Amino acid sequence: MADKTEKTREIQADTAPEKTVKKAAKGETADQTESRAGKAGKTGKAVKSGKAGKTGKAVKSGKAGSAEKKKKTDKAGRGAKKTGTEKMTIEERLQGILPLLDARYGTDLKTYLHYNKEKPWQLLFSTILSAQCTDARVNMVTKDLFVKYPELEDFAKADLREMEEDIHSTGFYHHKAKSLIGAAQKLLSDYDGQLPSSIEDLTSLPGVGRKTANVVRGNVFGQASIVVDTHVKRVTNRLGLTDQTDPVKVEFDLYEVLPEDHWILINLQGIALGREICKAPKPRCGECFLTEYCRYYQNLEEDT
Ligand code: SF4
Repeated sequence: MADKTEKTREIQADTAPEKTVKKAAKGETADQTESRAGKAGKTGKAVKSGKAGKTGKAVKSGKAGSAEKKKKTDKAGRGAKKTGTEKMTIEERLQGILPLLDARYGTDLKTYLHYNKEKPWQLLFSTILSAQCTDARVNMVTKDLFVKYPELEDFAKADLREMEEDIHSTGFYHHKAKSLIGAAQKLLSDYDGQLPSSIEDLTSLPGVGRKTANVVRGNVFGQASIVVDTHVKRVTNRLGLTDQTDPVKVEFDLYEVLPEDHWILINLQGIALGREICKAPKPRCGECFLTEYCRYYQNLEEDT
């Protein structure tokens, strides 16, 4: 057997749950203001950053600065005191935000879930298990799970109750056990035991939504895609890169405004920012390096 470290890679699929919490009074006001203001924010063009993020050079905005887009964005400030931040287009925000994110969190596409690259379906299963669970816990569970069930056939014929016990510590074990067994059965029956690459085929598998499918597409097939988890949804909303709260709508908004070289990175960097500073329910703006470009922070200042 080859060295395990050579056969595995780490992928990021953080799906820690966003806790339902009461918003602080100030934060709620800011969110509401943010939502109103943000309706003018969508521009429909990605900012071209290339390697700018790594070097700290300004991000090229391409056609992003059209008069029509600026006109739309300017409407965001209607009825509120004008400030430099508020007049920013999404492209202008990104010109500041992306290099700072790159500098702070890096551009290494290091990811955290363990799987055998010769058995990419293991990544799918790890990602299913990562829902509402930390990557570290999933890695602990799959270390034994993939030994006990080394092949898809072993998952397909597994006993549901026994599987539930095997993955119990990841939470939601009944649903996840059914998903693992069902996904294995469908991969064998419909896809000859191979992982499909299309989002449609992947999401046809039990327990696989767009987020899980995009993790697989990005890491197994090298198809850059944006994974919107709870951190990315929250952080990109506060920064003013989207006004949506539905993860799928956030995903499509981000495809419009982000350069492709940040499609995978935004998940890794968004998770890092969300865990470290831009926490739910209350962000630590006083410690943040993005205040100059952040719509949420600017709205807070407007309210005070
Ligand atoms: S300033 Fe930073 S911590 Fe505060 S809302 Fe913006 S991104 Fe989050």
